[in-house]
Amino acid sequence: MNVAVCVKQIPDPAAPGELDPSTLTLKRDGKLILDDSDSYGVEMALQLADQAGGGEVTLVSMAPRGETGGLRTALAMGAAKAILVSDDALAGSDALGTAKVLAAAIKRISPDLVVAATESTDGYTGTTPAQVAELLGMPSVTFANKIEVADGAVRVHRQTEAGYDEVECPLPALVTVTAGVVEPRYPSFKGIMAAKSKPIEELKVADLGLDPTQVGAAGARQEMVSVEEAEERQAGEVVVDEGDAHERIIAFLEQLKVI
Ligand SMILES: Cc1cc2nc3c(=O)[nH]c(=O)nc-3n(C[C@H](O)[C@H](O)[C@H](O)COP(=O)(O)OP(=O)(O)OC[C@H]3O[C@@H](n4cnc5c(N)ncnc54)[C@H](O)[C@@H]3O)c2cc1C
Repeated sequence: MNVAVCVKQIPDPAAPGELDPSTLTLKRDGKLILDDSDSYGVEMALQLADQAGGGEVTLVSMAPRGETGGLRTALAMGAAKAILVSDDALAGSDALGTAKVLAAAIKRISPDLVVAATESTDGYTGTTPAQVAELLGMPSVTFANKIEVADGAVRVHRQTEAGYDEVECPLPALVTVTAGVVEPRYPSFKGIMAAKSKPIEELKVADLGLDPTQVGAAGARQEMVSVEEAEERQAGEVVVDEGDAHERIIAFLEQLKVI
């Protein structure tokens, strides 16, 4: 079974982020790394290909400046190859523009299954994967915390507030995974060395047959109009036990509807 995994390469969340004052979008001029959210998709794809007894995992990414740092990490985990779309014409792409690029790249490899994260860590509109599925004419199942593939269909436990829904749809399909779906492996030394020589096909907008006026800033229909500082977190309440601490904690949890 051949699986494509959407892999976003993002600025290191450990370093302070900076906005471009003219576009109010995140500056991506430093080194980019594999988005932690996508490491779950890579691991899931590797396990599914293994269970199917054959096939390979191909990474698909759109990123500036021919950036491959995050892709090499995912190749070191065990993916076979990658497609990177990198083109100055893509600067200013909104979520739909990104989806058009990813869908066109995925079409080239006709996978049985496409895996993405539910939302990225840096932008998190959470809209890109569903748009990719729509553009590819595939069903999309989101928020998966368990995935099985058998008999030409994918069966998914789809996380809900109350538990999970069991959803099944025919392949090819796109599934987005949540952080709890699997435990991503650490790349081994052997994996890191092997990743250095795994193929990364770098493509431009023209290679994908896309209309340049439909992607990048030219095609963007979203615009960042304002950005505000997130409210600082308030200090928590310390419960000092005067014999009734358990009752006060229970009342607090009930108020939050946690219990
Ligand atoms: C107005 C506007 C302008 C922007 N300008 C730029 C810009 O100039 N340069 C720039 O780099 N970005 C830019 N972005 C961000 C970029 O287009 C995002 O990649 C896109 O908006 C989707 O990101 P998200 O974080 O919302 O994805 P989500 O929908 O939250 O992502 C969910 C999952 O989709 C997949 N995915 C998302 N994006 C990618 C990707 N690029 N490659 C592979 N898989 C992916 C991943 O699996 C990810 O976990 C801009 C966004 C907006 C709204």
